[in-house]
Amino acid sequence: MASLSSPSIFPKSQEIFSPPPLTFLPKRSSFREIQQLHASAIKLRRLNNSFLFNLIDSLSLNPTPASMHYAHKLFDQIPHRDAVIFNTLSRGYSRSHDPHQAIVLFCEMLMASIPPDSYSFPSLLKACASTHALPQGRQAHAAAIKLGFALNAFVLPSLISMYSQCGDVEAARTIFDKGTDRCVISFNSMITAFVQSSRPGEALALFREMQTRQLRPTYVTVLGVLAACALIGAIHLGKWIHEYAEKNGFSSCVKVNTALIDMYGKCGSLEDAIAVFEGMEFRDAQAWSAMIIAHAIHGQGSEALKLFDEMRRMGISPDGITFIGILYSCSHSGMVEQGLRYFRDMSNDYGIVPGIKHYGCIVDLLARTGRLEEAYDFINGLPIKPTPILWRTLLSACGSHGNVELGKKVFDRIIELDDSHGGDYVILSNLCALNRMWEDVNEIRKMMSERGVAKVPGCSSIEVDSKVHEFFAGDGKHPDSNEVRRMVDEVMEELKAVGYVPDTGKVRHVDLTEEEKEESLRYHSEKLAIAFGLMKTPPGTTIRVVKNLRICSDCHAMAKLVSMVFGRKIILRDLNRFHHFAGGHCSCADYW
Ligand code: ZN
Ligand code: ZN
Repeated sequence: MASLSSPSIFPKSQEIFSPPPLTFLPKRSSFREIQQLHASAIKLRRLNNSFLFNLIDSLSLNPTPASMHYAHKLFDQIPHRDAVIFNTLSRGYSRSHDPHQAIVLFCEMLMASIPPDSYSFPSLLKACASTHALPQGRQAHAAAIKLGFALNAFVLPSLISMYSQCGDVEAARTIFDKGTDRCVISFNSMITAFVQSSRPGEALALFREMQTRQLRPTYVTVLGVLAACALIGAIHLGKWIHEYAEKNGFSSCVKVNTALIDMYGKCGSLEDAIAVFEGMEFRDAQAWSAMIIAHAIHGQGSEALKLFDEMRRMGISPDGITFIGILYSCSHSGMVEQGLRYFRDMSNDYGIVPGIKHYGCIVDLLARTGRLEEAYDFINGLPIKPTPILWRTLLSACGSHGNVELGKKVFDRIIELDDSHGGDYVILSNLCALNRMWEDVNEIRKMMSERGVAKVPGCSSIEVDSKVHEFFAGDGKHPDSNEVRRMVDEVMEELKAVGYVPDTGKVRHVDLTEEEKEESLRYHSEKLAIAFGLMKTPPGTTIRVVKNLRICSDCHAMAKLVSMVFGRKIILRDLNRFHHFAGGHCSCADYW
């Protein structure tokens, strides 16, 4: 990089125009300023390679389509290019609207017989990651091994991110394990990789390993760990990270605060989320969106809409994520017409192209209020190919509304796209069972076993003393499982005394007796987790449970009664939403 510190090419006594010496070209010059500098250099006949390099470097720092186009034109003017100049342009492209160009540049570099250096790989791998180009990513990995850079401190974290973003988290883990001298950046990449693939337990385990190795977490670590806490519902660990962030000077970081809002919201503490939000000096669209979503998932639709108005009054433009929160709020508060209006405003007033999640909210909005046929037509009329998830939203609604005819039609559409999801079969089977269509129930069961589809096991987790305990339906894997089952038995007896009747209507197995059906409901994972919470946490404290599937109606009824009989608030997050149980009622008003 010696050329960078070469003396200024502009004479100091330049009277007419005196641009700053090249070494002082401000790193964050605007595109316009860079163009002006370029123009004056041409006028003054002062254009040389190192000046061009500096311009490309500045342009690549803040890559826009126009700046990258300009930078590439300058690049073409340099006759003798080296790895440094290739790496500089490639870094810009890797963060631009067109990351694929970074891959093209790498190939051009090889064709020009310019040997890549260790700095060539991070941009190349980042480009492979953001374009989900796994085959190219693998080739890049092979090239890095061949050139001896694969274990380099810059290349290793990029390889981990590339594999994880391309969906191969196992390969990412293998690479991580190969690193002998693992630095914070590698840990961060691997923690992020686990979070992105919904494996929060492993992310938290790595964080603990970081601590035993006395590696100092950065704000990226904090973001990853908070996201993991949000996924698993670990509020105590989340609070600890919050304190850690405050002690280590991250408390003014907008991204960290946004992650805290998200974590508190998803761990069931809306009050803590609000406290973080109100303590923020500066709030960007992401922070507002996180707060709106936190209100939305807690069923506070009108609060979410108030925040949305306030956000716009402050002159902050909502983005696609803000609208997910808004549409979600409308759907969970039954505000159908408002929701549809916001959906139209989103594209008409804000120019936001709806994505699959927005469509999902609309399907949910219509389906939830029983407008099932309308939702079906909406999906059929979409400009993009509907995903199985979209159809699944409608299928669950058919389940809740007991519409078996449409349910069957929707099920067929899902099966065309993905026949491996056990939950779909279970919903349809329950729907048929409810309508006493036993032949169909048997047919579905046969289909499942023929296709080797397994029912996703229900799993509920609860955090006690900063440790997350997982319970699976009917399982005996937890060390205290006998004790927990006995506790469930005791609880159920007490609830029966106040009128609890097991809801055996949806139990799938037709050949079971009523008693056996009750037995199969009794040890559902959320019942085990709630019983464990009653055993292990002090009287009067809130019990927080996270479930991987939707809560069933029997467990919902049980939780309502527990909140009344045992005087405990229960906050249960299921696949879709929060249920706040208190005094015998639930915040979802029995619709979920
Ligand atoms: Zn249940
Ligand atoms: Zn509920």
